Amino acid sequence: MVKEVRKDDKILYICEECGLAYRERVWAEKCEKFCSKHHACSFEITRHAVQTDI
Ligand SMILES: [Zn+2]
Repeated sequence: MVKEVRKDDKILYICEECGLAYRERVWAEKCEKFCSKHHACSFEITRHAVQTDI
């Protein structure tokens, strides 16, 4: 399940498998699918992640 987190009035979508945050839900969902299937992250997906201290 992708987790929604509000931060500074923005919504971030968190991949619960690896904990990376995305501005678009679609990337978090792609990341989570990839992470749970391969137990590793895809650079093509994680390069869309945002820096966060959540
Ligand atoms: Zn992930």
